[in-house]
Amino acid sequence: MDRRDLLKAAVAMPFAASGPTAGVLAATTRAARRFRPADPAWPSPNAWEGLRRRVGGNLIQPRALFADCQTAPKGEACHEALKNLANPYYIGDQPSGTQVSGWLDAWSPAPSAYVVAARSAADVAAGVDFARRHNLRLVVKGGGHSYQGTSNAPDSLMIWTRAMNAIALNDAFLGKGCAGKFAPVPAVTIGAGAMWMDAYDAVTTKAGRYVQGGGCTTVGVAGLIQSGGFGSFSKHFGMASASLLEADIVTADGALRTVNACRDPDIFWALKGGGGGSLGVVTRLTLRTYDLPQFFGGASATIKASSDDAFRRLVERFIAFYAQSLFNPHWGESAEIHPDNRLKISMVCAGLTDAEAVAVWRPFFAWVAASPGDFTFTDQPDVGVIAARGWWDAVARRKRGSKAMIFDARPGAPPAHAWWEGDQGQVGAFLIGYDSLWLPASLLDGAQQTRLTDALIAASRHWTVLLHFNKGLAGAPEAARGAARETAVNPDVIGAFALAIIATGGPSQYPDLPVPPLDLVRARKDARQIDAAAAALRAVAPSAGSYLSESNYFNADWRRAYWGANYPRLLAVKASYDPGGLFTVHHGVGSDDWSADGFTRLARA
Ligand SMILES: Cc1cc2nc3c(=O)[nH]c(=O)nc-3n(C[C@H](O)[C@H](O)[C@H](O)COP(=O)(O)OP(=O)(O)OC[C@H]3O[C@@H](n4cnc5c(N)ncnc54)[C@H](O)[C@@H]3O)c2cc1C
Repeated sequence: MDRRDLLKAAVAMPFAASGPTAGVLAATTRAARRFRPADPAWPSPNAWEGLRRRVGGNLIQPRALFADCQTAPKGEACHEALKNLANPYYIGDQPSGTQVSGWLDAWSPAPSAYVVAARSAADVAAGVDFARRHNLRLVVKGGGHSYQGTSNAPDSLMIWTRAMNAIALNDAFLGKGCAGKFAPVPAVTIGAGAMWMDAYDAVTTKAGRYVQGGGCTTVGVAGLIQSGGFGSFSKHFGMASASLLEADIVTADGALRTVNACRDPDIFWALKGGGGGSLGVVTRLTLRTYDLPQFFGGASATIKASSDDAFRRLVERFIAFYAQSLFNPHWGESAEIHPDNRLKISMVCAGLTDAEAVAVWRPFFAWVAASPGDFTFTDQPDVGVIAARGWWDAVARRKRGSKAMIFDARPGAPPAHAWWEGDQGQVGAFLIGYDSLWLPASLLDGAQQTRLTDALIAASRHWTVLLHFNKGLAGAPEAARGAARETAVNPDVIGAFALAIIATGGPSQYPDLPVPPLDLVRARKDARQIDAAAAALRAVAPSAGSYLSESNYFNADWRRAYWGANYPRLLAVKASYDPGGLFTVHHGVGSDDWSADGFTRLARA
């Protein structure tokens, strides 16, 4: 037995445990830095072989997503990768796949040294143990949708949960240790690597129930829950993480814990919006399911104003209309306020009939139509509903030739695998600038509407402002708001009527992808415009928080912005379950103990 094996035996932990124990502290070291492949202390080939055996052969040495286009640009592998560049399912299926291709002056995709393509919680635990014992940089990837590159770390060992995607519904779920404390509720248990489309297909299309997840169908379930998580109907059902009933998580000591409100309640709370990749590897989640409304629907239109003055009146009128008629659990999704004086409306509704939805919008569209000199519909109003059960029914949508969804056309792809046409622009995009802030509902009160309008117009002179109404919980049912209070997300979300997002990206810039280089001067100028637009909006919401998964990579105030008063409690959870800082991501809980690349513990830590 060599020294490494001795150490391994000394720190071996039982695979199942509950509650943080002295073992967590004993098993996690406070190493000063993590090793890279060039370091003499990097694990030997034998050690890697041992890990490969422990994970049933599922250890990969990945290449960059488009590496083949560098080595053999005319080869079949490069051709295949280029053909699938716009397919988010293909990207998600690649160990080095990231759904965005990087962020200007922030991060660029780079493969890990090794990837455990985990099939089970035991594989995950083997990877965690290996990284801890050999002092490696560890990174966790599910759906790969992190804008901030937090599932990407060169020279790391990655745990990739893609294959852990089993889904099972339960009519009466009761968390472990919760008998007598809670009543059983309908629920769905989902493997951490599943995508939301798989959950919607199982829960809504096949079983006629509802589970709150994300809007983008290819986002990973575990990543979104740990972000907080919003979908189109969150104004009706609340934040996705607020529906979490139980999770299985492998913590830094390699122990698999089943956590819920009755067992390990602190880490359970922290998983609900405390940010992915900071606390452990979630292997399975159980989420509450809800009765499905009879109808889901939407309203869309684009209106162009003929002058700045007319545009200001249009935005003011729309805000007043929103406050009066849409600020309720039925209506979510977005409106866009564009620099060229266009207002684009892409709203969705839950629980209204066709006639009810049409009646809601009639006065606003009539007001617009009454001033043809001032306003033109560049996209005609379209309001309607469909049976809610068909919303994510990709097979039915494909049969009737729907253009709203794009389908994974690869041979053997599951028929339910589709994505919204509206999300296509984000697949592989390169981010240039991004910011977000929760706008308090007080801005919808009487005279405040004028201030809000002025700020929206001022911001839109710099860049397009998107108002995501479904990502603010003011106007949602009290039960949804109450459940959100039991999460780690910045409480600003509860009092906000919308999350304002200001962002732009360019064409894919994956390393090795044969594309023209970005115009950096222009891109940096655009990024400053986004900063200016966000500053103009902050004039009316100076201390507004920001949604951690859709926010500014460079936000120096990230602890307060993401979690507000919840941050100290999150730090305490981190200290209990990961005292050695094995899990670290950009702007994650406790990440300021580490250098930006996550390899060096900072002296003050
Ligand atoms: C195109 C696009 C659309 C989006 N749409 C929405 C939306 O509609 N609503 C919304 O709320 N957000 C949305 N987001 C943001 C998204 O929810 C978050 O980025 C989320 O964290 C992505 O999860 P993932 O598993 O896909 O990504 P990953 O990049 O794999 O993971 C994200 C983070 O979670 C960690 N993580 C992943 N799996 C685990 C696990 N099993 N255990 C522990 N940590 C884990 C990773 O380490 C990483 O830090 C979108 C992002 C993109 C790129």
